[in-house]
Amino acid sequence: MLLTITTTHRPATDLGFLLHKHPGRAQAFDLAFGRAHVFYPEASEERCTAALLLEIAPIGLVRGRQGSGEGAILEQYVSDRPYVASSFMSVAIAQVYGTALNGRCSARPELASARIPLEATVAALPSRGGEQMLRRLFEPLGYTVGVRGRMLDERFPEWGGSPYHTLTLESERRLSELLTHLYVLVPVLDDQKHYWVGQEEIEKLLRRGEGWLADHPARDLIVSRYLKRQRGLAREAIRRLAGEEEGDPDASAEARDEEESRVEERVGLHEQRLGTVLSVLRQSGARRVLDLGCGEGRLIQLLLRDRSFTEIVGMDVSHAALERAGERLHLDRLPPSDRKRVKLIHGSLAYRDRRLSGYDAAAVVEVIEHLDPYRLSAFERALFEAARPRTVVLTTPNIEYNVRWETLPAGRFRHRDHRFEWSRREFREWSAGVAERHGYSVRYLPVGPEDPEVGPPTQMAVFSLGREVG
Ligand code: SAH
Repeated sequence: MLLTITTTHRPATDLGFLLHKHPGRAQAFDLAFGRAHVFYPEASEERCTAALLLEIAPIGLVRGRQGSGEGAILEQYVSDRPYVASSFMSVAIAQVYGTALNGRCSARPELASARIPLEATVAALPSRGGEQMLRRLFEPLGYTVGVRGRMLDERFPEWGGSPYHTLTLESERRLSELLTHLYVLVPVLDDQKHYWVGQEEIEKLLRRGEGWLADHPARDLIVSRYLKRQRGLAREAIRRLAGEEEGDPDASAEARDEEESRVEERVGLHEQRLGTVLSVLRQSGARRVLDLGCGEGRLIQLLLRDRSFTEIVGMDVSHAALERAGERLHLDRLPPSDRKRVKLIHGSLAYRDRRLSGYDAAAVVEVIEHLDPYRLSAFERALFEAARPRTVVLTTPNIEYNVRWETLPAGRFRHRDHRFEWSRREFREWSAGVAERHGYSVRYLPVGPEDPEVGPPTQMAVFSLGREVG
């Protein structure tokens, strides 16, 4: 991936001071995931260009992820990550151009605060939402935006355009602003990040977004994508960007907001849960996955959209649910390449099932509470002893949170068919026991807004076969 920055400010070679990189020298920097090179293809009084070239070691990306069958290993090495502008580029900007990003220049402080003519080009930038999205993000910031798209393959125009674009930004401004905009918006365009996103990511976003993000017309989209679509985090970030502090004196406005967020919460929790499951599955490096108790196939639908999942099997005990899943997924209309990635099977989690062996990961989302408690140990053995996927992502309601809902349509539990609901302690005790008995390690993640007293509405356990790596 390649980022070039050009200026025609006089003398243009001042760019070297601003970036803390001498125009006469090529330099290389070791980063955790590869090597960054900085060099100047041109450096005259009139025009100077600095290039940041990032060489990502594909092996490094795979290392530490657990292998998952021979075919899958090859696929892990063949990904676009080494070649496109992504969150790796943001890390490189922060590490290699950190002083400039922060707007400092000890040798020539006046330069750092000067608005100078700048032109930046990012090659191979994946843009989810295409050219329109590129314009939507950068034009409101005052850039003249140039976009060059490509065909996926010139010989096959019917395949359409490639998701990768070459982006050119022109503007007269401080170099630190340009770098900051790229730092935040490149991963937003790409819409994925190579690392787990948590609370500290909000702080980073607010710091880097100071002075421009709060008023950006695409603010909410930027925040949501930057925080990997975790609604709880996004809501907090937006609230803080909008200048609302906790204990806002305008009590009625606050009450309105609260009301809204409660409604949103109810609408959004399912979506958020599936988003978190998807993210954990991606992180685990899984290719072949099971969705056990798949219901109407909402998770399968998300998995299908991500081509890194090569085989997806949904199982449910209910024929009716499987039928609805088939309809939702339009199985009969899927292109053959997708059709062969997905399979729906009828079966029960209370029994050992040979068809479930040999998968990288299993999702068991909001299912165990539908099992009679005396069946739990059979379920445990069928999944952790017999099927034995490397990763198991399991969610269930947190009963403590129920007091936060004004009405529970199903009385004490959230759903008429729930046989039990657990507190955080009960869930952790059961999960730790399972992990212990079958040689897994386990970690816990909250799903949904975490309440300081009663915790999150949904609790998640992620089991990994053997010791956790990293
Ligand atoms: N995972 C889905 C559906 C959750 S609802 C989602 O998050 O949207 C629970 C599902 O578990 C139902 O579809 C129900 O039919 C299924 N289920 C209940 N008992 C089961 C069992 N013993 N084996 C397999 N699936 C079961």
